[in-house]
Parts: sequence; C-alpha cells; structure tokens
Amino acid sequence: MSKQIIAIDVDEVLSSLLPDIISYHNKKYKTNYVMDDFYTYDYWKVWGGTKNQAIAKVDEFTKRGGFANLQTIQGSQNAIQKLKSKYRLFVVSSRKSDLKGTTYEWLENKFPKCFEKALFGNHYDLKAGPSVSKSQLCRQIQADYFIDDLPHYAKECADMGIKTYLFGDYPWNKADVEGAVRVANLDDIVRILM
Ligand SMILES: [Mg+2]
Repeated sequence: MSKQIIAIDVDEVLSSLLPDIISYHNKKYKTNYVMDDFYTYDYWKVWGGTKNQAIAKVDEFTKRGGFANLQTIQGSQNAIQKLKSKYRLFVVSSRKSDLKGTTYEWLENKFPKCFEKALFGNHYDLKAGPSVSKSQLCRQIQADYFIDDLPHYAKECADMGIKTYLFGDYPWNKADVEGAVRVANLDDIVRILM
C-alpha cells in the first residue's frame, strides 16, 4: 500500500511565530500584548486598525528577518521524524508566496528531509496576488490527514472529508470544530496515527 499523506500547517504547529510577533510589536509600538490576548488569530482584531495595517506590520517583521529565526514548537522535531517513517509529509501554509525561500530554508534547517514539498496559500498579500484555500492545497496533494491550529481552516478541510486535527491549546482555538479531532501536540498525532 502506498503511504498516506499528511498535510501540516507551519505557524504554531511546527514554528512558534506569535511569541516573536508579539515581542516585535511590543518593542516597536510600545504595547504589552501577551499570548492570552489573542482570542483570535486575526491580529488586527487584537491590535486594532485595519487588516492591511496588520499585514504591513507583519511584513515589516518579515523584512527584519523575523521568519528566518523562529523556534520550533516543543516536541515537533521528534514527532515529525517518527511520522516521516510511515507517511508522506507536506507543509500546507497560508504564508505569502514571498516567504517561500525563507520557509524552505527554515524547514530544511529544523526538519531536514522531512517534507516532500511546501505549498503556500498566499492569504496575507497586500499586493492581492492570487490566494489558494487550504482545502484546495490539500486537494492538490490528495492529503489524507490535515493538521492546523486555526479553527476555520480545520472546518474547511474537515467539511471536505479530510481527516482533520485541530492542533494545540491556544486562546484562538478554544472552541471545538465539528468534524475535527483536537490534539494537544504532535505526540498525540504520533499516538493516533502510528
Ligand atoms: Mg497555524
């Protein structure tokens, strides 16, 4: 039997992004945000201002190399190594296409030879380039499983019939998602799928 395919989100599943964004924002804009303030992952709803202003702030963080230096989520490197032995692994991210190079470098550095390919949805592009939904990205690679921390992506993929896991215990994903199984971390995925 050919190996089944797992599509895995990057930010807050493999990489710890928001803590770095918060530090950057607090320093630059003299704010005092903490993770618990992010009842939603739509940063602009927490910071105030428009969506495009929030994207511009993250673009500035990107320009300063923010995405190149992210820590991994605890336990993710071991778990991915284990999953890799039985599954084909793909990264499915909403990140902008501009971040492709940085993302591939980061993945190769933190998770060498673990992922067959990374696909980018380009969801936060001020130039409004074409964006692709996560469910479409999953369809492109015929994913059997999908792991993401954002409820609306989990819902979208669960609705499409992909076995979906809502990842992590985060302030923005407190509510369960119909059709998605909640997992605390990637060790849970290993326990379920191995
Ligand atoms: Mg994420």
